[in-house]
Amino acid sequence: MERESLEIIRTIETKKLPKRTKIGINLVSIGLLLLVFSTRGLLGVAKLEYPSSLLIILIIVPVIVLHELSHGIAFKLYTGIVKFGFILRSGLGPAFYTTCPKCLMPRNRMILACLAPQVLTVIALLILAITQISNIWLANSLLFFAAFNLAGGCADLFMIYLMARENSRIFVEDTGTGAIFYREKGTV
Ligand SMILES: [Zn+2]
Repeated sequence: MERESLEIIRTIETKKLPKRTKIGINLVSIGLLLLVFSTRGLLGVAKLEYPSSLLIILIIVPVIVLHELSHGIAFKLYTGIVKFGFILRSGLGPAFYTTCPKCLMPRNRMILACLAPQVLTVIALLILAITQISNIWLANSLLFFAAFNLAGGCADLFMIYLMARENSRIFVEDTGTGAIFYREKGTV
């Protein structure tokens, strides 16, 4: 799509979101974390007997790496271009991000690129549900992985929500710290 034939309809900067939106995103994130943990009984995952902070620290690294890699694979497949980055003040706390600089993507492809890491959440929960792993550490690792991957993707989910409200014919440019929505000139 030629940039000249497009016009900007909306610019989103995570940093500049209203305070109540940022609080809302964080609350949804905590809600999603608790939601995944609430499936513990259903999935047959026994609680760790002592504080699990060590497991949280150990699991957070693979969550970040695999989460960003999933976005990266989607961008690579769709555009061939991927850039990984880190921002200290994203408006939603420090964050790693994956972007496709200067790429214009049709809305539905961008939605899939935002959704890509959640395939891992589904896989982790499916493994737990199907195998009913008895090893308490392994089972908790998978549960923590699913919970943090989903909760950590709440900004992605917020972007999906914003995109879903727009016409499916729009184009989206990911800026790493937000997005720009475009439509073809002369269309509504
Ligand atoms: Zn993400």
